[in-house]
Amino acid sequence: MPIVDDLKQALGDIVLVGAEIGERHRSDASLTGKDLPKAVIRPTSSEEIAEALRLCNANGQAVVVQGGMTGLAGGANADGNAIVISLERLTGIEEIDPQAATMTVRAGTPLEVAQRAAEDAGFLLPIDLGARGSCQIGGNLATNAGGIRVLRYGVTRDNVLGLEVVLADGTVITSLNKMIKNNTGYDLRQYFIGSEGTLGVITRAVLRLRPLPAGRLTALCALESYDNVVAFLARCQRRLPGLSAFEAMWQNYFRFNAEASKLKLFDDVPPFSVIIEQDLLSDDGDRDAFEAFLGEALEEGIINDALIAQSEKESRSFWSAREGHAMDQLLPSLINLDVSLPIGDIGRFAEDCSQALSARFPAAHVSFFGHVADSNLHIAFSEADSDAETPHIVDGIVYEIVRRYRGSISAEHGIGTLKRDFLDHSRSPAELDLMHRIKHALDPNGILNPGKVL
Ligand SMILES: Cc1cc2nc3c(=O)[nH]c(=O)nc-3n(C[C@H](O)[C@H](O)[C@H](O)COP(=O)(O)OP(=O)(O)OC[C@H]3O[C@@H](n4cnc5c(N)ncnc54)[C@H](O)[C@@H]3O)c2cc1C
Repeated sequence: MPIVDDLKQALGDIVLVGAEIGERHRSDASLTGKDLPKAVIRPTSSEEIAEALRLCNANGQAVVVQGGMTGLAGGANADGNAIVISLERLTGIEEIDPQAATMTVRAGTPLEVAQRAAEDAGFLLPIDLGARGSCQIGGNLATNAGGIRVLRYGVTRDNVLGLEVVLADGTVITSLNKMIKNNTGYDLRQYFIGSEGTLGVITRAVLRLRPLPAGRLTALCALESYDNVVAFLARCQRRLPGLSAFEAMWQNYFRFNAEASKLKLFDDVPPFSVIIEQDLLSDDGDRDAFEAFLGEALEEGIINDALIAQSEKESRSFWSAREGHAMDQLLPSLINLDVSLPIGDIGRFAEDCSQALSARFPAAHVSFFGHVADSNLHIAFSEADSDAETPHIVDGIVYEIVRRYRGSISAEHGIGTLKRDFLDHSRSPAELDLMHRIKHALDPNGILNPGKVL
């Protein structure tokens, strides 16, 4: 393996081979990765990454970047011919600038570590998702992660001011901008955010921080129909200035998780349950307004019931129904699809999907939940007798309906390998051609994450 020998000679013992390569390098959280790579490089600096890429590029060697391996699209999986650059040792907060309200962070830093550092400095880092303990800032950027605070603070893309990236040929582009306004030509950072390791290796980022809320109010509401969910969302957006989450659960999703986790929340499971959360920006005055707001929505019949969390523990119990860990553990061969649709169409889309999936798989569990306020719907599918073909058949059924509704086959998990064959369901030939041209311009030898996304 001459390239591995060259890398070892240039970089020393940060290059691992054979038995030195840990199992964690086999697959991301989609559990679809089959092989271990032929070598793993664990750099602690951008210069080491640049040196590794220079050598790999000159040899046409495929390179896969691995972050926290929590991705759900197979994007970080490598085959036995690839060399992995693992960012696990490129960690640490380099600076928190309280005047600019920014954090400069190395890409391998786990999201939760960055969140805590922001909090210790009196700020909120608003990027937040269930995998916070393991996923890395670089992975969040490379997938443009969404999560549970998008409604108020936007997706990851909206919270990044500057980036440092190493290109396929080893060029280091340091663009650690701290300013919100900066119209100096093309916005280079946006090429790399959401590119899933196919255009460059993200090594450092300047993230935007926000004021730390004084607390949070959480309510779980029962609703009769999807039309009421949409009406309630519009009213929340108009009347609750600190609204930071609006998460909907269809009846069988809520029932499964509440029963499995022994949560006694409503006497009868309503057709729709919605969690709303409002950031407290100042004092307790917000609390009275929150209660009055829910009282009015009840009187007008937009919602049928509302439970306001009286403690952090109670709020966690609402969220545990939504996060669905019980479902993850109990349903066999669970598939979690992640799509996006215009908000007004989501109710009809869910009915169409449910009918089409039940017609093909009569015994399957099919349920729906999602962030809704940012047009994101998740579909949980489980079939006890599923085989290797089942996920592909399910994808085909769902993404064909997504295409009909002019939706997106990936709201937040990315394309990786698992959705690659369906990309044309949500992108036109001209858009795909432009993506190929950008890829060729930045990585002419096609060494970065080959076979992913495009
Ligand atoms: C329990 C759970 C909950 C989740 N919830 C959400 C959610 O609410 N919203 C959401 O959007 N996602 C969610 N995800 C998916 C996943 O956590 C995100 O996609 C996350 O951003 C991936 O980060 P990572 O560091 O684990 O990346 P990895 O899985 O290691 O990699 C993901 C992709 O990014 C590339 N990559 C990683 N680091 C870099 C880098 N430094 N430079 C260039 N490319 C890189 C990889 O090559 C790969 O293509 C969830 C996953 C789990 C397991």
